[in-house]
Amino acid sequence: MQQESDSNPDPRRFPCAQCGASLEYAPGTEVQRCTYCGHENRIAVVAVPIEEQDFRQTLRDLANTATIHDSISIHCDSCGASYSFDAAAHAGECPFCGAPVVAKTERYRQLQVQALLPFKIEREQARAAFHRWLGGLWFAPGKLKDHARNDARLTGMYVPYWTYDADTTTRYQGERGDNYQVQESYRAMEDGQEVVRTRLATKIRWTPAAGVVSRFFDDVLVLASRSLPREVTERLEPWDLAKLLPYREEYLSGFRSEMYQVELEQGFERAREIMAPTIQRDIQHDIGGDHQRIHAADTRYGEIRFKHILLPIWMSAFRFRDRVYRFVVNGRSGEVQGERPYSSWKIAFAVILGLLLIGGGIAVWRARQGG
Ligand SMILES: [Zn+2]
Ligand SMILES: [Zn+2]
Repeated sequence: MQQESDSNPDPRRFPCAQCGASLEYAPGTEVQRCTYCGHENRIAVVAVPIEEQDFRQTLRDLANTATIHDSISIHCDSCGASYSFDAAAHAGECPFCGAPVVAKTERYRQLQVQALLPFKIEREQARAAFHRWLGGLWFAPGKLKDHARNDARLTGMYVPYWTYDADTTTRYQGERGDNYQVQESYRAMEDGQEVVRTRLATKIRWTPAAGVVSRFFDDVLVLASRSLPREVTERLEPWDLAKLLPYREEYLSGFRSEMYQVELEQGFERAREIMAPTIQRDIQHDIGGDHQRIHAADTRYGEIRFKHILLPIWMSAFRFRDRVYRFVVNGRSGEVQGERPYSSWKIAFAVILGLLLIGGGIAVWRARQGG
């Protein structure tokens, strides 16, 4: 990823044929709509299939800086996010961390996006969900609610992901454990007398096991952003990846898109971690028996293919007492997730109130007992 400053960025813009204002993608539709006069422009649907790329070939190409796409973006020094330049809102706060961002644009050389899921949830729906979430933050400091209630802080962002396909073959060595039962004698006390009795006890017989398991993984999803915590984005899953559309810039109009920070090769490391438990279960199943031990497993990843995709997330980030709190909405399903701050005096007040109520209850009970 090479970066250089550029003082004359060319923002993505689709002018309205009727009035010249900006067209924006209308979530859940196949049109771009003029924010000024309402004129609509249909997005041409392309019938080409989304082709997965060869992983190893692309890594070799990357070394030669081929298949690379140039773009201009804004960089946040606080959280490291880089996202598309937008002429309408180029200054202000970073949508990922809430830090003030100076409009410093950079040129990025990255792999071209191949597919995306367009926004389906509209701004109004996301805003309503955000307000419901804020309203539910009973313990949050009031100041923060006022601060966060500003609608301008809700950003529609296309977040970068990788998906990997891999044909895996794993050789393993281990042990299979089979239960068997034996008669066991033990001492017990009966009528003050020590007696010897027998009972059935379960033991395990271990035998060596070795073999090969194969599994094809399809569309293992890996977050390519480092600006959003994985715990937050993972809770937005699942995504309807079967509905991915070939990339078209029109779907990005009126929204922002983030540059990837996790490189293609690093992303595959994470994909391997995601595949590992499934391979382990396959081995355990292959070993059979009642118990399994795996001593060694060597996985070969045959043909690895990938896609660089964008997924739609409505987000808001705000800073409060040097901490960042984020609120995110899955732009397809409307699923809501957030990190919630607490006001310590509100909690203290609730605890005291609770104690007073209990104390009051006891007093009433005592009065009744006495009367
Ligand atoms: Zn117009
Ligand atoms: Zn930031």
